[in-house]
Amino acid sequence: MELHDENSFKIRSYQTAVNTLERGEDINVLGKSIAELQQISGIGKSIAEVIFALENEGNHTSLDELLSKTPTGILEVLEVKGLGPKKVKILWQEMGISSTHELLEACQSGQVAKAKGFGEKTQESIIQALEFKASNSGKWLYADIEDQVLELINIIQKLEGLGQIAIVGAFARRMEIVEVVELLIETEDRSLAIQNLDKVKEIVQDRKGSSPYKWRGKFESLDLQLVIHFTQKEDFINEKLLRIGSKSHLLYPSKENQTLASILSKEKYESEEAAYQVLGFPWIPEELREGFFEFEWASEGGERLLEEDDLKGILHNHSTYSDGKHTLRQMAEHCKSLGYEYLGISDHSRTASYAGGLDIEKVQKQQREIDELNKELAPFKIFKGIESDILTDGSLDYPDDVLASFDFIVSSIHSALSMDRKRATARLLKAIENPYTTILGHPTGRLLLRREGYPVDHKVIIDACATHNVAIEINANPWRLDLDWRWVHYALQQGVKLSVNPDAHAMEGYADMRYGVLVGRKGGLTAAMTLNAMNLQEIEQYFEKQKAKSKK
Ligand SMILES: [Zn+2]
Ligand SMILES: [Zn+2]
Repeated sequence: MELHDENSFKIRSYQTAVNTLERGEDINVLGKSIAELQQISGIGKSIAEVIFALENEGNHTSLDELLSKTPTGILEVLEVKGLGPKKVKILWQEMGISSTHELLEACQSGQVAKAKGFGEKTQESIIQALEFKASNSGKWLYADIEDQVLELINIIQKLEGLGQIAIVGAFARRMEIVEVVELLIETEDRSLAIQNLDKVKEIVQDRKGSSPYKWRGKFESLDLQLVIHFTQKEDFINEKLLRIGSKSHLLYPSKENQTLASILSKEKYESEEAAYQVLGFPWIPEELREGFFEFEWASEGGERLLEEDDLKGILHNHSTYSDGKHTLRQMAEHCKSLGYEYLGISDHSRTASYAGGLDIEKVQKQQREIDELNKELAPFKIFKGIESDILTDGSLDYPDDVLASFDFIVSSIHSALSMDRKRATARLLKAIENPYTTILGHPTGRLLLRREGYPVDHKVIIDACATHNVAIEINANPWRLDLDWRWVHYALQQGVKLSVNPDAHAMEGYADMRYGVLVGRKGGLTAAMTLNAMNLQEIEQYFEKQKAKSKK
């Protein structure tokens, strides 16, 4: 009503009624007649009628009218913590914002701070509230739930009456975003299994949604759905295969038009290998079972996929020179202590002033410090790099003589993110064509569950990287995972190398490499095609060759 400028007395009477109802512990409006409702102090006839209608019919014309005038996106904006109707009205009617998505964009570009009555602080708190909302909308980043899922399995394993347990569904396929965690449990006594699951305080059952064959509920501490399927021992492998593979994986026609689904319906298997063998394939890793390219990969012999241990160094990292938490020395010593052969430091470039981007003097200072540290830490080596902003016109952020002083350059877009596909693609293309670009950083700028990437023509970008011998980053930060794994396979086909980069802003950030490896594997990434799986000597030569390219 406030949003639609209704009579202020009317608004106040509703507020009074709500307060009364919320305060009165013994007042139960349910089942009361209109006359009885009017007995409650603060509730007049018209509001009594509304309450009665809402309770008995589920709606009331006055509410319906208001809703029909309000975009659904605005209703979501109204739910954002800290935004009252007055502010929402300004956002909607003066700034043309009608969804939480548009609101986030306007905040990120700084427009909201400039609006009357808002300011930087409010803008920041809106961003935080929206991020929180996104992370609580039932969708979760794989990395954010991994610990809870594994912990739950540990707990369930100790329960009585249960046999084997397997993770199935999207989580088993290592999808970057998970909405439902699915488990498969072997049991000969389902009711005992359910009774025992009741004792697990980490999960809550939704009894209505459950059946004797399927336990439904959620994780107690998270708004994350959990489904547990029960099966008997002899069906375990078949059920596991059926519940991990995506539909197109299960229905992929192999020789004689058999599919995994069709053979599973005819016979019970004792191992996954045995089932794939009937189709004429080697075992296919769970994360590949998307019905995307895995059967092609398998029929070519199933080349071993990248593993974390294959990585010999860590590229794309920040230090206190720009917006990192730890010093160059700390970043280097920690990297060395983890057993890596080299570290690529790439702080932000000068235009990224919000992130402490390095002016030319600071670049030189850092490079001198790297020389000193390299003497001390040898044979471990720090490579001199920079994460150069790709400016709006596609050029890099320093004059050529400065660019030439780096061993490698990660070129990334950080500003002016709202571009159409044509402009975004052209901007990236110019940076790829720049002979100083070694790696294209987070190619779409997306933040999973928070911000869509700018729209780019992936094919054109990947083809250009192939032509100009530029590697593409798989930014391993769980929020990014950009290049998307769905494009990794195409990049590999074009002969483009991928670099699994944590974009670490602190020493702990190195641990994110694991998520980059997971999505790389989903795209079929092998050690041979991974830039930072090269050993020190190989990557030294690679960087040298790249630098020769820029001298031509
Ligand atoms: Zn970046
Ligand atoms: Zn970075």
